[in-house]
Amino acid sequence: MEESIISVKDLVKTYGDFTAVNGITFEVHKGEVFGVLGPNGAGKTTTLEMLVGLRKPDRGAADIGGFDVVRDLKNVKEVIGVQLQSTTLFELLTVEEILHLYASFYKKHIPIEPLIKDMLLTDKTNSRIKSLSGGQKQRLAIALALVHDPWIIFLDEPTTGLDPQARRTLWDIIFKLKEKGKTVVLTTHYMDEAHVLCDRIAIMDQGNLIALDTPEELVRSLHSENAVEFRFEEEGAELDLDRIEGVKQVGSQKDATILYTDQLQATLTSLIQRADERGLKLADLQIRTATLEDVFIHMTGRSLREA
Ligand code: ATP
Repeated sequence: MEESIISVKDLVKTYGDFTAVNGITFEVHKGEVFGVLGPNGAGKTTTLEMLVGLRKPDRGAADIGGFDVVRDLKNVKEVIGVQLQSTTLFELLTVEEILHLYASFYKKHIPIEPLIKDMLLTDKTNSRIKSLSGGQKQRLAIALALVHDPWIIFLDEPTTGLDPQARRTLWDIIFKLKEKGKTVVLTTHYMDEAHVLCDRIAIMDQGNLIALDTPEELVRSLHSENAVEFRFEEEGAELDLDRIEGVKQVGSQKDATILYTDQLQATLTSLIQRADERGLKLADLQIRTATLEDVFIHMTGRSLREA
C-alpha cells in the first residue's frame, strides 16, 4: 500500500457562476511524480493554487503531510516548495543574491552553492536575472522553491515556452528531485512530458478529473495498440466504420477520423477495401502507437491541442 502524502477530497472552486474546479478527489503518494494533465482552462492551475494556499476552496478539503491546507497553512508552507507560472523575479538581482534573499525568509535553508550547481546555473551565479534565458529562469524559479528543503514540490507548467533542449534539461532536474525522495506535483498540457515524467497522471477537463492512473495503464485502457488516422479526399464522405475489422473505438479530430485497433493489418486492409468499394480516396493516412493524447480524445472527443 502506497503512503499518501497529499489527500484531496471533493475540492470545488467557482469564479462567480463559473465552476473552474468541479469537485475533484485524489491522493498523491509519497515520492512519486504526479502529473495533472489537461488543456488550457481545465482547472489545473486553480487546483494547484488551492493546494498551496493561494486560493481558498469553496468546498471540499485537502491536506498535505497531515496538515489542512486552509486551517494549517503555516505548517503546509514549511513542507512545500512552489514554482508558479506567474513567479516574478527581481530582474536586477543576481542568481546568488536572490537565492540568499529567499533563504533569509526561512528558519533553515540548504547551502546555496550546491543548489545553484544542481540547477546547472553555476556559470550564472553572478549574472543578473534579466540576462538569463527562459530555461535558466525556470531553473532559478525551481531553485527558489527548493531553498528551504521542502518534501513536496509543486511546479505549474514548468516547461511551457521552453525549447526542446531546455525542456529536457528540466526533465532531468525533475528526475533528480524524485531520486532524492521528493514528491513532485506538476501540471502540464504536454502529453509526451506527462508520459515521460510522471508515475501517475490525473487528466482534467473542464474542471473535472476524468481519469487517474499510470501513463501505461491510461494508454492500455484504450485496449488498442495503434491509432489509424485518415480523412477522405471527398469532402463529407463517410464509411460504415462498424464494418471495418478490428476497430475497438472510433475518434475524430477536426476533419480526420481515428480508428483504434489492436489488429493493425486487418484494420488497414479492411479500411482500404471498403474505401475502394465506395470509390473513395484516403488522404493523410497516418499509423501510430496510441498515446495519452488518444486517451484524451477518446474521453472527451477533442484533442488536447485544440481543446
Ligand atoms: P492554463 O493551462 O491555461 O493555465 P488551467 O488548466 O491551469 O489552464 P486555470 O488557470 O485553473 O486552468 O483556469 C480554469 C478556468 O478558470 C479558466 O476558464 C479560467 O479562465 C478561469 N479562471 C481562472 N482564474 C480566474 C479568476 N480569477 N476569475 C475568473 N475566472 C478565472
